Amino acid sequence: MANDSDHVRKREQTSGRDLSYPPLPQPLTVGVYDNHTHLEIADGDDPLSWLDQLDRASSVGVRGVIQVGNDLETSRWSAAMAAREPRMLAAVAIHPNEAPRYAREGTLDDALAEIAELAAQPRVVAVGETGLDFFRTDVAGQPSQHYSFEAHIEIAKANGVAMQIHDRDAHDEVIGTLKRVGAPQFTVFHCFSGDAEMAKICADNGWYLSFSGTVTFKNSVALREALAITPRELLLIETDAPFLTPMPYRGRPNSPYLLPNTLRAMAEHLDTDVSLLAAQISSNTELVYGRWDAQPLNGHHADIDENAQPIGGIA
Ligand SMILES: [Zn+2]
Repeated sequence: MANDSDHVRKREQTSGRDLSYPPLPQPLTVGVYDNHTHLEIADGDDPLSWLDQLDRASSVGVRGVIQVGNDLETSRWSAAMAAREPRMLAAVAIHPNEAPRYAREGTLDDALAEIAELAAQPRVVAVGETGLDFFRTDVAGQPSQHYSFEAHIEIAKANGVAMQIHDRDAHDEVIGTLKRVGAPQFTVFHCFSGDAEMAKICADNGWYLSFSGTVTFKNSVALREALAITPRELLLIETDAPFLTPMPYRGRPNSPYLLPNTLRAMAEHLDTDVSLLAAQISSNTELVYGRWDAQPLNGHHADIDENAQPIGGIA
């Protein structure tokens, strides 16, 4: 959901929150994948490096992550890190709240052309996050948002990769666009935020619903109703770290190692076994993106600085 400026704003809104990382959860017996994370965004009093975050995730049964870019800089970084890190695959895009900025600067088409080039790399397995955001982008920015969204849909289809959708206060328009121009074969609603009615529409179209820590929040009643009616074969799970930390740690820094908290809450709500749910979600994830070890690592990137943090300095 987020970009750099979202993050800064979040810090301002929640000053006084606990900025320490939550404790490690009990390891999972059957592992799962984090469908959507931003490991490059620093958070907390003492930000963990992206490799430390992956090590913690591995230690509790999180098998791999989709690292998601929001602009050219973070998309390049995501593709480069995924090319050398076996636990990471990448998604690349210009975020719907970034598209108007590129359009104003007259560089949106150039940016989209580079996204298309990145999307052709073997360990870039999705285009995203793309979509529509009428919460943060005003009416003046919406034409470039629509233009960018449709361009991303074409890039995903042309490369035969999945698409991750960011949809904020734009459910009808996102669904309308997908139906009008045709959705990619694997279309994922990242951080699904609709109700049961929308979940039914997604399911009828074979679109995937990725649930984040918001499903654990006390007031997310409609979201849990959506979860309950989603066919198990369309379920995915994500952290959207460093945002949306699951209960009981809401407000503290998020990281892929906290995915088990969300998984366990989902299993409890669905009255099902955690390991059964994990196996189903892992299988779904590999169907959408392929296996993490199916795409070869690129040795040319072995000299990249492991501690590179392109957006550092936020914390
Ligand atoms: Zn995101």
